[in-house]
Amino acid sequence: MSKKLLVQKFGGTSLADLAGFEASAAVISRYTDEYQVVVVLSAVKGVTDLLLTAIDTAVEGGNGAEYLEQAIAGERSVVQDLAEQGVETPLGSAFLEEQQAVLARRVEGIRLLGQCPDKTRARILATGEGFSSRLMVDLLNHRGFRAQWSDTDVLPLANEDWLDSLIDTEAAAPLLKDRLEPASQVMVLPGFYGRNANGDIQLLGRNGTDYSAAAIAAAIGAGLCQIWKDVDGFFSADPRIVTNARCLDEVSYDEAMELTYFGAKVISAKALTPLAANNIPCEVRNTYDPSKPGTLVHARARRALVVRGISHLHDVSSITLQGGGLRGRVGIARRVMDALASESISILLIVQSSSEYSITLCVRQADERKARRALEEEFHFERLHGLIEEIGVQSDRAVVSLVGEGMKHYRGIAAKFLTAISSAGVNVEVIAQGSTECAIAVVVRGEDAQPATRACHTAFFSHSTHIDVILLGCGNVGGELLDQFQRQAESLIEHHVDLRVRAIANSRKLLVADDVIDLDCWQETLAAEGKAWSLEDVIAIRKKLGLLSPTIVDCTTDEKLALEYVRLLDNGFNIVAANKKANTSGYDYYRDMRDAAARNFRKFLYETNVAAGLPFIDTLQGLMRSGDELRTFEGILSGSLSMIFGLLEDGIPLSQAVAKAMELGYTEPDPRDDLSGMDVVRKLLIIAREVGLQLELEDIEVEPVIPMDEVGLVDRSELIGALQSLDESISERVAEASAAGNVLRYVARVEDGKCRVSIEEVPQNKPLGAIRDGENALVIHTHYYQPIPMVLRGYGAGAAVTAAGVFGDLLRTVWRPLDN
Ligand code: ADP
Ligand code: ASP
Ligand code: MG
Repeated sequence: MSKKLLVQKFGGTSLADLAGFEASAAVISRYTDEYQVVVVLSAVKGVTDLLLTAIDTAVEGGNGAEYLEQAIAGERSVVQDLAEQGVETPLGSAFLEEQQAVLARRVEGIRLLGQCPDKTRARILATGEGFSSRLMVDLLNHRGFRAQWSDTDVLPLANEDWLDSLIDTEAAAPLLKDRLEPASQVMVLPGFYGRNANGDIQLLGRNGTDYSAAAIAAAIGAGLCQIWKDVDGFFSADPRIVTNARCLDEVSYDEAMELTYFGAKVISAKALTPLAANNIPCEVRNTYDPSKPGTLVHARARRALVVRGISHLHDVSSITLQGGGLRGRVGIARRVMDALASESISILLIVQSSSEYSITLCVRQADERKARRALEEEFHFERLHGLIEEIGVQSDRAVVSLVGEGMKHYRGIAAKFLTAISSAGVNVEVIAQGSTECAIAVVVRGEDAQPATRACHTAFFSHSTHIDVILLGCGNVGGELLDQFQRQAESLIEHHVDLRVRAIANSRKLLVADDVIDLDCWQETLAAEGKAWSLEDVIAIRKKLGLLSPTIVDCTTDEKLALEYVRLLDNGFNIVAANKKANTSGYDYYRDMRDAAARNFRKFLYETNVAAGLPFIDTLQGLMRSGDELRTFEGILSGSLSMIFGLLEDGIPLSQAVAKAMELGYTEPDPRDDLSGMDVVRKLLIIAREVGLQLELEDIEVEPVIPMDEVGLVDRSELIGALQSLDESISERVAEASAAGNVLRYVARVEDGKCRVSIEEVPQNKPLGAIRDGENALVIHTHYYQPIPMVLRGYGAGAAVTAAGVFGDLLRTVWRPLDN
């Protein structure tokens, strides 16, 4: 009994070099027991492009021979590598030698003529496949298979197009069957071209080998067609752009058609017609990993996914006709289509506004000029009489499309698609529903295709919660935060949180990931690859990576940066700030930031502005929102002053207490920054504004710990000495307080709408009396919490707790994709 028939196609990526040819031969050999195999080959990777460049360069009068030599050198290197393996290549080598001279002559002829007839173009381009197919026969024979080479005279053509022909499968059927020798295990044909009745070569269109394979499969009634590539199969999006794209186990013919029509380079759209018409299942598989099952393209996908994949097509131009004269006129769309069809321009998509006031269509950019001219001629009369305005052309556009058979049964898919695209900061110019009702396509600027595709992929294919981090400031707190991310990595994954650090900056350099920054070596990478930066570079990250709702984490103390938050929020970033400068700038700006967050649906969080990681701001906001009212607030908001006043209580003089706190690392590098009280003033202002007081920094009354005009001026090295002059008076105050059962504390207070920061005598047995050793405490008396106040205490400074507070804020920015 004769064996079953199988058609296998190997593309350029499977034939890049010796390794590719060997891998392809190994794949073929896996099937020869079970099947009689018909193999169709593309040219060696890059050869067709080089031949094409050679022709086009020669037409322009340039040195086309240079590209021709590159193409031949690529082919020759495979022959040489095979020779080194002891493989003789009689067919391949002879073809190469013969073609070399012929091609050189033809290219020179083209240069002299300044033009290349399509017939000659077809003959030149087809040599790539002529060579690779012969070489494969040599290799298979060497490996002991009975392999047979066949020319494409068995593929008669159905039309007269030199560059984009169709195969007459009915006529091909008997010819192919005749040609197939019963004794041969493998028959190899060149893809990409057939021969007309005169025996001349006609091409089947770019990437035509897929079509060769499909048409042959249809003609011989093969039970299966396989397309072998350098990827595992059909991905949910181009894997070079979306790193976490998924390999699909199946797609329907219609879905494959939409995906490939709009750019997915997996199987050419033209090949799908003969496969679908004859119901031939087609596997897309990886030559370099044949154990993987790949993707099955077939009639009815078993599992109807709402959305199967996303594709994008570059180098598109959109053309718009508009004008009052179009309104209500019948047949405009038909005239547009006819005008372009007569120039053999294919229309990628066409939409008409509902008022019929405008028609927009997309064509390949290469056809733009011809299309415009054709339309100008067709609508000459209307233009002359002002019935339509100028024909508008936008070059450098891209079509991004979302494909899935299930989508016609569900609502809200288009909304989610458009939301994802606009969340990535991309403007949608045209929206169209695909021809088979299983796709929605949008036209965007060319440079926006990548971010749009990535954003849509996240929206439709990711089931985790996304946190994209851009960390500005990677010193103490920022560095610790990155450590905490690493320590929590596993647990985050368990909780379906996908936290990715996309960029890290210090004051000098910004490092932006192509995808994600590897936290194992961020310091080295930042030093080596970071670049000087401005805010524009940060803003550009969102689009570049197609991030839906990224978060800027500000771990700097930079005031200039703080004053840019509104702009960042307006550009779609959330902000998590450890930096206090924004919330303590002018009250108008304070309001502006909140308005910007609200209008952009973004979060602005700053829990660590007060008492580091202690959950004070969140608690206070919760109380205020639920209708509680603040009566008084009192707190110890400085870790260093908490330490210093605790030491004073133990009888240690001020100068020594400060020295000790410095030694323990509790103070700012210059302790006067703590002793001035300004740090506490800032925190108190933030609390006051949080409860609705419209105050400025100057409105807060402050008693510095030490008079700043005296010790304020001495050199830092003399500071401790200068403080000694204050030791006695402070010790006296401590003693007086102690006699009354009190202690001195540096207290921040809100009372009767007024704010004050000062040294207070506090009863030892009251909440603040017990706060020392660097601890903070926040005491709030509210309508609900009285007479016993709510008290929050704990360490309010230090890299670990501050970073943990920032981390907590980050987790509150989460954006959850809707389920697919
Ligand atoms: P070949 O000529 O060998 O068939 P192509 O030149 O057509 O190969 O290119 C294959 C490439 O197409 C793959 O390496 C892959 O990066 C890219 N590609 C684009 N979109 C997709 C997709 N949706 N699924 C798989 N691969 C894709
Ligand atoms: N080599 C041809 C091309 O690059 C045909 C093919 O690879 O399918 O278009
Ligand atoms: Mg190819």
